[in-house]
Amino acid sequence: MRCRLLFFYVFLMFSYSALSQDSTGVLLRLKKHIEILASDSLQGRRAGTEYEKKAYRYIISEFSKTTLKPYGKNWVHPFSFKDEDSLKKTAYNVIAYLDNKASKTIVIAAHYDHLGIGGTKSRSYGKKAIHNGADDNASGVAVFLELAKSLSENNLKNNYLFIAFSAHEEGLFGSKLFMADYKKLLPDIRLMLNIDMIGRMDTISKNLSLFTSGLPASIDSLAQSYCPQDIYLKIIKENFPESDHSAFKNKKIPCLFITTGAHEDYHKITDDAEKINYAGLLKIYDFLQQLIFDLDNSK
Ligand SMILES: [Zn+2]
Repeated sequence: MRCRLLFFYVFLMFSYSALSQDSTGVLLRLKKHIEILASDSLQGRRAGTEYEKKAYRYIISEFSKTTLKPYGKNWVHPFSFKDEDSLKKTAYNVIAYLDNKASKTIVIAAHYDHLGIGGTKSRSYGKKAIHNGADDNASGVAVFLELAKSLSENNLKNNYLFIAFSAHEEGLFGSKLFMADYKKLLPDIRLMLNIDMIGRMDTISKNLSLFTSGLPASIDSLAQSYCPQDIYLKIIKENFPESDHSAFKNKKIPCLFITTGAHEDYHKITDDAEKINYAGLLKIYDFLQQLIFDLDNSK
């Protein structure tokens, strides 16, 4: 295993020798986040289990390396939900705040829970085995954590809330209950970016989907201008798939939802870290970072 890891890093050094030091650091951290969150020791990060807590402790430990602060007394927002066996469980959103003393707040979100060892949402029918959820959604959380680090190191004009949602797979409970419990904050939210499954950019078609709602058309050309030329960016305004942006969109909050979409391993026991397109993931990180910097500057 160690040997494989060493080989991977040597491979990375050659593959990305043209990258700046900074990009190489981001790439290595993206890989580390996914390998940890999608490792067997986290048993598929099912909401309401001790493995969800292991996952959120990792997210908090990463937030703690930045200047971000908890929103409120704690890093976590606990809430109750009923699991698929109708058992009442407690799950936890993780919320970090970047207070730039602004009147408006931009929400950046990614869900961190997954299917545990299976259940009704699994597509590996009849198999009770760990669903690591590397693409769904350790990939989104990895970029989310790197954006949190980068945005906390810059002077920005908006406040930022970074929310890692839980109990997404059971029915988007984390985002719904955030909206219910933080009603007072809603008028201050300028826009919400949801990052869900961005680790499987196809190496040939290189499709990336950006759903936008309630934002001016100028964002479309801005996004196209920042997207690397070898990526085919599709900007979509209708038929949003359901995800954690839905609760915000229903309240008419402008939304962006980015994804590389579903694939053969979606909700299967084969959604593993070694299948992630890390070069694509780094490009998506760079693209989102530039887009956010520009949105932050615009009115
Ligand atoms: Zn899922």
